[in-house]
Amino acid sequence: MIKGIDNESILAAICKNSYNSILITDANLDLPGPKIVYVNEAFTKTTGYTLEDLHGKTPRILQGKETDPKVLQELKSKCQQGKDFAGSNINYAKDGSIYHVEWNISPIKNSQGKITHFISIQRNITHEVETIYTLQKIIDQQKNIIIITDGLKLNYVNQSFKNFFGVESLEEFLTQDDCICSRFSEIEGFYYRKTEDENWIKALQNLSSEKRIVSMQDENFVPHGFFVGIDDFGDNKDIITFTDITESIGEKRTLKHKAYHDHLSGAFNREFIYDHFEHYKQEAYKNGTYLGLIIFDIDHFKHVNDTYGHNVGDKVIQKIATITKETTRASDYLIRWGGEEFVVLAQVKVIEQIETVAEHIRVAIENDSFDPVPQVTASFGIALSEKEETLEALVKKADDALYRAKNEGRNKVVRAKR
Ligand code: GH3
Ligand code: MG
Ligand code: MG
Repeated sequence: MIKGIDNESILAAICKNSYNSILITDANLDLPGPKIVYVNEAFTKTTGYTLEDLHGKTPRILQGKETDPKVLQELKSKCQQGKDFAGSNINYAKDGSIYHVEWNISPIKNSQGKITHFISIQRNITHEVETIYTLQKIIDQQKNIIIITDGLKLNYVNQSFKNFFGVESLEEFLTQDDCICSRFSEIEGFYYRKTEDENWIKALQNLSSEKRIVSMQDENFVPHGFFVGIDDFGDNKDIITFTDITESIGEKRTLKHKAYHDHLSGAFNREFIYDHFEHYKQEAYKNGTYLGLIIFDIDHFKHVNDTYGHNVGDKVIQKIATITKETTRASDYLIRWGGEEFVVLAQVKVIEQIETVAEHIRVAIENDSFDPVPQVTASFGIALSEKEETLEALVKKADDALYRAKNEGRNKVVRAKR
């Protein structure tokens, strides 16, 4: 092995000082099995057995009621084929106490290539197993639903998950659905997947925290609201916590909804955006994006009111809000800025992106029917936020562009001058 040192002395020193247990048997696989010919000090420390106790005995002395026979079968078959084996199991110490062991077994061959012995290197993993068991118990005692997932498949679920969905095990749940996201109800005001391949974890992360809520039905089909917490678990997995906020949601949401929403269109009101703009702007910068702002105004709306009446006018405003919500992402914000003026805020990388959003809304309005009004169009101004810019300044920039869109013939999107 190493020049100038006696190999046998090295081997002896390694075995003596190894933190791992080492056990060597002969190669007789016939019943009652291979006989133990050597154990090191670490082995004696773990098991209480000395070499004198074990000499001539087989490793079966270490096995007991809780030892998994399937693993032993696999071990035997690998040894018979002269292959290496790795696995874990429960073993018994001399005093009858159990310990968890992880071990490798390799055949040792003589110069003719014949297997003469097997060497087994063992690690006592009782502490790790017990720690995992304790953590699992703690997670199972949590009222929150806790899962570990790569976004597609569920890797781990806690007891609250099983109770909520009325399943005995994760396996039972997986026979119905792979992803918990299939259980998000499509309810306004809650997040749900718009398309099958939408990355729901990313989509939720992109929402501001008060929007990071989902609705799911329990085993009795009773809907619950959940706040969703997402933490990186490593290895491309996330640990996701669902906190049931059904009770607090009812009252708070109606109050908040009233304070921050426009009654006619259901869009946010100015109050909301004045309170949240700074935060969203900072969030956008943190994500390496900008806040893009669209302001649009219905064309010749006075004419709609004058010809068809105020009620029809109101319906047009409502429908425009619906169309805009459908055309934009869940993470975008729709604000009723004034009478027949709306603002959309979205995180974007470049102005072309916000221009595309505006163009989508413009075309969607132009192509929809607003019976009895033959056609409705709107004009759009767009702008991108500067770091130190106030909401007023940003709106002013976009509003100037909107003014130009009106002057240039309406039903068009115009960019703000920088
Ligand atoms: P322009 O293309 O230049 O925008 O023409 P316009 O007719 O839309 O002009 P303007 O913006 O001055 O008119 C807005 C009209 O919208 C005036 C007002 O009566 C009407 N309006 C504002 N709020 C409401 C509302 O809540 N319901 C209805 N039905 N009408 C509203
Ligand atoms: Mg107007
Ligand atoms: Mg108008």
